[in-house]
Amino acid sequence: MEEKPARSTVGKFVIEAEEAQAMAKESGVAAVRELLPLLVPAAQRLARPPISNYRVGAVGLGASGRIFLGVNLEFPGLPLHHSVHAEQFLMANANAHGETGIRCVAVSSVPCGHCRQFLQEIRGAAEIQILVTSDEDPAFRPLASLLPHPFGPPDLLHKDAPLLLEPHDNELGALDATGVAVGGGGLCNGIGGGGLDRRLREAAEGAARSSHAPYSGCAAGFAVADGGGRVYSGSYVESAAYNPSLGPAQAAMVACLAAGGGGGREGGGWGIVAAALVEKETAAVSHEGTARIFLEAVAPGAHLKVYRFRPSTAV
Ligand SMILES: [Zn+2]
Repeated sequence: MEEKPARSTVGKFVIEAEEAQAMAKESGVAAVRELLPLLVPAAQRLARPPISNYRVGAVGLGASGRIFLGVNLEFPGLPLHHSVHAEQFLMANANAHGETGIRCVAVSSVPCGHCRQFLQEIRGAAEIQILVTSDEDPAFRPLASLLPHPFGPPDLLHKDAPLLLEPHDNELGALDATGVAVGGGGLCNGIGGGGLDRRLREAAEGAARSSHAPYSGCAAGFAVADGGGRVYSGSYVESAAYNPSLGPAQAAMVACLAAGGGGGREGGGWGIVAAALVEKETAAVSHEGTARIFLEAVAPGAHLKVYRFRPSTAV
């Protein structure tokens, strides 16, 4: 392709609809979706794959006209299943920004099976148009051509159940004051004082209410704070096939990087100093153990508080 986006998109993970229109015009392409493959190299540069050094960039067009970027994230010291795939990042990024649908995605490498499955959580997934820029003849093709005869939400959920990118307002119940657990080494250094703790809890609680967790019923949210006191939160996203699910801690790292956090240096750590997890006390699964392991590897010594909510129906 000869067209080049005229504007700098360095470091941007969300491009507003008006700007996307203007960029398409300046780039000489007929429609915004034709701009997506032109942005893939810039997305790849934002990836953080210190284990594989294999950079994946994904760029999606939302129903709102906004463009969302996604990149792969890898976390040294942790098993590979803690990684975030670019397509997952893209969807979590869109979800965090209230996007209601993704219609077209351009991606640097052909989506792996894990991502083909993860994308099934979006209503009308079969019709999402995928373009692989590394193909010999890149063209948008429906996701159904990459994953025919899929297993997905219709196999497990009522047809009216909200899917990913649709509004969620999960009932968490009441905060169980006896269920607040503290860990990590941050309490003694003054980080995690009242104001920051409150903001982390509120952010994690909001993320839990927006969580897509219809299979376990374990809505969960995670929030992290950097040394500048900036807070980033992410919602747990489940997959009908379970294993491709995106954990709340990973979703928070997506939010952190997408909002310009993450330490600013690819190999220099994430700059996280404190975190909070909100989950249900009586849920079938708990993220606490995994989140502690994750945080210890990503931000050693960071302070973590876990808030467990007790559903009103519980005794
Ligand atoms: Zn993948």
